Amino acid sequence: MSGLRSPRARSCSRCGARRLSALVCPECRAVERPAGDAFALLGLPRSWAIDAGLLEEHYTFLSRLLDPDAVQSRGEEDWRVAAEAAEALSAARRLLSDPLERGRYLLSFYGDVEDRERSTDSSEFLTQVMEVQKAVSQAEAEGDVARLKAARLEAEERLGSSLFAVGQSFARLEQALTEEVKAAADALNAAQYWGGVVDEIRNKTTSQ
Ligand SMILES: [Zn+2]
Repeated sequence: MSGLRSPRARSCSRCGARRLSALVCPECRAVERPAGDAFALLGLPRSWAIDAGLLEEHYTFLSRLLDPDAVQSRGEEDWRVAAEAAEALSAARRLLSDPLERGRYLLSFYGDVEDRERSTDSSEFLTQVMEVQKAVSQAEAEGDVARLKAARLEAEERLGSSLFAVGQSFARLEQALTEEVKAAADALNAAQYWGGVVDEIRNKTTSQ
């Protein structure tokens, strides 16, 4: 899968076990206040192309660990933190399960989404939307069920192709981003070596 990985949850600071999400440790059940993005909370890579099955699997797994009954014995503070974490987890799942919400959320990592939304006001697709809406009103007024169904089919097709275009753009964006991050890391690595060489030569030339 392309796309940048979310900052993965590290090992548990209490017991050292690997955590799927920073929210809760599967071994010692230590809970933490929600921090990080929705992908990280669910232990998923930050990408448009999420695996819906995996999302549900992670959600169910983490929800069980955060269940009030499971943390009840740990005291008032842990119980409160677990409730907060469970709420954040279910909000993250709602957000990522909806393709439109997920797309907007992902875009927010790359810049000002509000401005981009406004810039589409002049787009010609709005004319197409209005045409379909007009056809729907006419068909409704005339009780033309066949035409209504045809309009629904057309709107569904447009929705499908728009979402497909979103997916294509994010795939290209994530691919480019992954490559550039790697290029930046390689260049930084080279710069570090050259920095060492420069320091070494400077030391030799200033001492003489
Ligand atoms: Zn632990």
